[in-house]
Amino acid sequence: MGVSVSVLASGSRGNCAIVQSATTRILVDAGISCRETFKRIKAGGEDPQSLSAIVITHEHSDHVYGLPVLAKKLNLPIFMTEATHHAWARAMRDANGERPQVAKLEVFCSGKNFQIGDIAVTPFTIPHDAADPVGFTFKVEGVKVGFATDLGYLPASVRDHLHGCDVLLIESNHDLEMLRIGPYPWSVKQRVMSRVGHLSNDALAEFFANDYDGGATYVVLAHLSEHNNHPELARGAAEKALGTRRTLLRNRVMLAAQSAPLEAIRL
Ligand SMILES: [Zn+2]
Ligand SMILES: [Zn+2]
Repeated sequence: MGVSVSVLASGSRGNCAIVQSATTRILVDAGISCRETFKRIKAGGEDPQSLSAIVITHEHSDHVYGLPVLAKKLNLPIFMTEATHHAWARAMRDANGERPQVAKLEVFCSGKNFQIGDIAVTPFTIPHDAADPVGFTFKVEGVKVGFATDLGYLPASVRDHLHGCDVLLIESNHDLEMLRIGPYPWSVKQRVMSRVGHLSNDALAEFFANDYDGGATYVVLAHLSEHNNHPELARGAAEKALGTRRTLLRNRVMLAAQSAPLEAIRL
């Protein structure tokens, strides 16, 4: 069976992926509807009921939109930090002020490893304008998978966590020039570009050129903006920065998309 990574959806209209071993299947974020999540899992030949747990990076709706229904239908443990849970529950209050109940809430702390089945999960703090946002690394069967999206820049601590990944899923949100001349109001442009916003193609290229260890088999460019980026711009910037480290066996660049799942990555 081995380890596999499936990106079901990626972008500002919803994020959802699966990291799985032979025995454990973790849903990373639940940003698309339950119905669409199930549809995309089934299209990959898998059974949604076999998921082991959901882990949440932060409370923005493109990461939790489908969570209430998924939690109810699947009745599985939901892992998030206390601050993320608090912010999410407050945002989800109904007309009477009632907060949603998560039957199997599992609270974790950023920086503290935890285990789901045979997968070791390490959450780490990322700079983003949410209550307590995290990225994750997952380790199982000698394979390391890193997830880092929704971050304004790449601090040294995040670069350290992403060392030694076999699959690196990382944000390549916007092209600076497209963002500058694009349709967003100035306040939104400033937010996206800020230190707690989103990672640009150029910022990612700087990481690839100067700090990345070059060891991943697959590099997945994720959370691309539909208005302020173009897949080929993101790919071009990343491939140029990776340079000759891109071979048949190393640093194969893939692009995660919003509208359709990415072909499963098997290791
Ligand atoms: Zn997001
Ligand atoms: Zn976000």
